[in-house]
Amino acid sequence: MLTIRNLTVAVEGRRILDGLDLDIAAGEVHALMGPNGAGKSTLANVLAGREGYEVLEGEALLDGQDLLTMEPEARAQAGLFLSFQHPVEIPGVSNLQFLRTALDCLRKARGEAPLDSAALLRAAREAAQVLGLPADFLKRGVNEGFSGGEKKRNEILQMLLLEPRFVILDEPDSGLDVDALKLVAAGVNRLRRPDRAFLIITHYPRILEYVRPDRVHVLHGGRIARSGEAELAHQIEAGGYAAVLEGSVA
Ligand code: ADP
Ligand code: MG
Ligand code: MG
Repeated sequence: MLTIRNLTVAVEGRRILDGLDLDIAAGEVHALMGPNGAGKSTLANVLAGREGYEVLEGEALLDGQDLLTMEPEARAQAGLFLSFQHPVEIPGVSNLQFLRTALDCLRKARGEAPLDSAALLRAAREAAQVLGLPADFLKRGVNEGFSGGEKKRNEILQMLLLEPRFVILDEPDSGLDVDALKLVAAGVNRLRRPDRAFLIITHYPRILEYVRPDRVHVLHGGRIARSGEAELAHQIEAGGYAAVLEGSVA
């Protein structure tokens, strides 16, 4: 489903990703770990089309389409979704308005009619309930005054409503208490399907207890330096990155 080949990316003239290869098949969940500053968010942002990154080499294909040549909107329409490590506040735009605009845009691209207001409200309330968010939450400005944990859950709420085919979650678990973490994991598990895939960026094995990954990768030296099963996340927790990177090629 997602094929990344030789991806080399610079930020402000410095190479952050350097010949990165990664393959994620439909139906799979992959975890991406790696020390602070390794380039995990850079990878997520480059795939989503955020500005400020210079792609020097390589390609990233989603179902055969080269994402890197597409506008961010077209990438979303192709089924890509990124939950931000640091969600932005959009004061004055209510959560519900935001969801409606995003969903209408995606449905239009798919040749579908806009969801009617009652159906949208029903779906949004249900998703809010799954995530343990209060109902008045939908009327509030996007992320305005939300706690860190509420912002993370709001990203997952968007994911549940937009039903993307390829989901990147950038540290969906940072700053969450264990109850919120379980709710986020439940949201992800709800969307797991044979035709959908996930890349979960995290520092902790805990979320992977609830969302079992098919593969775990470690980003280091600008590429995937080590890959393994879920157990790799526990080795990192126990011994730090140095222990699992010893003898790696990067
Ligand atoms: P990670 O998510 O793995 O912690 P990042 O992808 O956020 O790492 O950052 C990788 C490196 O790129 C870091 O050294 C970071 O300081 C640098 N970097 C990322 N974005 C920018 C930017 N907009 N301007 C300058 N440096 C950046
Ligand atoms: Mg970081
Ligand atoms: Mg990051």
